[in-house]
Amino acid sequence: MIYLSKKGDYHFEIVWTDGRKQVFHLSTVQTYCPCCRCVGRENSEKVEKEVRALKIEKVGSYALKILFDRGCSFGIYPFSLLREIGK
Ligand SMILES: [Zn+2]
Repeated sequence: MIYLSKKGDYHFEIVWTDGRKQVFHLSTVQTYCPCCRCVGRENSEKVEKEVRALKIEKVGSYALKILFDRGCSFGIYPFSLLREIGK
């Protein structure tokens, strides 16, 4: 079981099954958008400054889907990717 919570407007936190906590910056996460529109583009083209999340939901037990207020919301972010981003 993974616990997900919002931290203010621009961050969210995940507590992983092993108890490790990571705080994520939404704008940074968006730069890793793995959707087919974003992959291969330069990060600077797809990043909006300080995006907020309108909605964050789990996709099965392996990923998150984030509805951002701006920029691309098509990506599905696997937990394995998030663990890398949060290092
Ligand atoms: Zn995208």
